[in-house]
Amino acid sequence: MDLLTANDRAGAYPDSWYAATTPALPEMPPLTETIRADVCVVGGGYTGLSAALHMARAGRRVVVLEAQRVGFGASGRNGGQVLAGQRVDQRTLEARVGRDDARRLFGMSLDSVALVRALIDEGRIACDWRDGAAHMAWTRRGADAIRAEADHLRSAYGYDRLEVITAADAGRIVNTEVYAGGILDHGSGHLNPLAFALGLARMAGAAGGVIHERSRVTRIDGTTAITGTGQVHADHLILACNGYLGRLHPGVAARVMPINNFIIATDPLPDGTALRAPCAVADDRFVVNYYRMTPDNRLLFGGGESYGYRFPSDIAALVRKPLTETFPYLADVPISHAWGGTLAITASRMPHVARPAPGLWSVSGYSGHGVALATLAGRLIAEAIAGDTAALDVFARVPTARFPGGAALRAPLLATAMTWYALRDRIGF
Ligand SMILES: Cc1cc2nc3c(=O)[nH]c(=O)nc-3n(C[C@H](O)[C@H](O)[C@H](O)COP(=O)(O)OP(=O)(O)OC[C@H]3O[C@@H](n4cnc5c(N)ncnc54)[C@H](O)[C@@H]3O)c2cc1C
Repeated sequence: MDLLTANDRAGAYPDSWYAATTPALPEMPPLTETIRADVCVVGGGYTGLSAALHMARAGRRVVVLEAQRVGFGASGRNGGQVLAGQRVDQRTLEARVGRDDARRLFGMSLDSVALVRALIDEGRIACDWRDGAAHMAWTRRGADAIRAEADHLRSAYGYDRLEVITAADAGRIVNTEVYAGGILDHGSGHLNPLAFALGLARMAGAAGGVIHERSRVTRIDGTTAITGTGQVHADHLILACNGYLGRLHPGVAARVMPINNFIIATDPLPDGTALRAPCAVADDRFVVNYYRMTPDNRLLFGGGESYGYRFPSDIAALVRKPLTETFPYLADVPISHAWGGTLAITASRMPHVARPAPGLWSVSGYSGHGVALATLAGRLIAEAIAGDTAALDVFARVPTARFPGGAALRAPLLATAMTWYALRDRIGF
């Protein structure tokens, strides 16, 4: 299935609360000729826009080709959580890559949050940044695991931004009794993801980068990108397509699996209805539920299982289930917006870095943790193209296995795995 077209209108943003409330950029014209560039970027999400921005600032001629609109993909429709730490906990990372690289990876996760904040400041991006993200557990065992990781981050990494939340304390943050405890990370935060993506696009343009929208790359040949109406011959080509890569590069696709996820926005709620603190929240379910309040007091709630790549016809009904489990008193709350998006995961839940041929680069598969990391990855690719591969190499050293059966078997495999883990969530083992 072609995820660039299967679930959305061509050249349009989805019906998200973000698209409804964020001023769009003027359309940027499609590529209609054959041109030369130092670097061509395929994909206008955080990875591609950040890479373009940093390379344009370094004086390179950069062209971004975006199939739809900038921020059309996951970057313009996600949960907006900007999270310190990797998707995988540090003790697991230490076992996988050793202490030194695990330490570097944690440090880079902090850099990634700092980078997002610095770019917001530099570009005066109006994206409603707010501090704080809580990680809450449904079971005592889950709460113990979260607390053990927090203790480890404090003692082994000196990370002191975490506040332990007991079950009794949880009501200070969130108006529900379902949680057995968790942590509040004051070093993380949340924002309007589409506004941030559009801000990056504006900054990349101001730095000299050229962006073509409605310019789908149908084929690459070495470091040349080919669309229906033009070509870019470049010294370097960056694949920044993440979950929407499709068949553009089978080698990358074998290690990076697209999955869909869904979000709803409620009508504005009275103060304190769902969240009592201004932070974002994610829980410890395998199919993670995550939520935060908008500045106009809507609850944005993400979650929901769906197997297969076509979005369900009633996304609101799908997300209402976990919403009601978490906030039983919101069972009938009016839902104003419901939308889906495609992200990409890897088997290791760590980003997949690929350099499959000279001049060809790709980072993707942030596994639900990409707002900050994809923004950082763009900068790391720019540094690597400038000759300093040290930081990108740290990510490249983390093994990301092929999915068994490659692209053809991915969907059935995913359905089985999701069913199993979702079952595990329900019966709590
Ligand atoms: C519903 C949802 C909720 C999420 N919540 C969070 C969260 O709260 N926190 C977090 O950290 N992460 C979250 N994520 C993940 C995060 O959004 C992604 O990791 C991140 O946006 C990836 O950025 P990207 O630039 O690599 O990919 P995308 O933003 O997906 O950008 C890829 C772009 O490439 C373009 N493209 C693809 N193929 C072509 C082609 N052939 N030619 C031209 N252009 C092409 C697409 O149109 C798209 O715009 C969520 C994702 C989803 C879908």
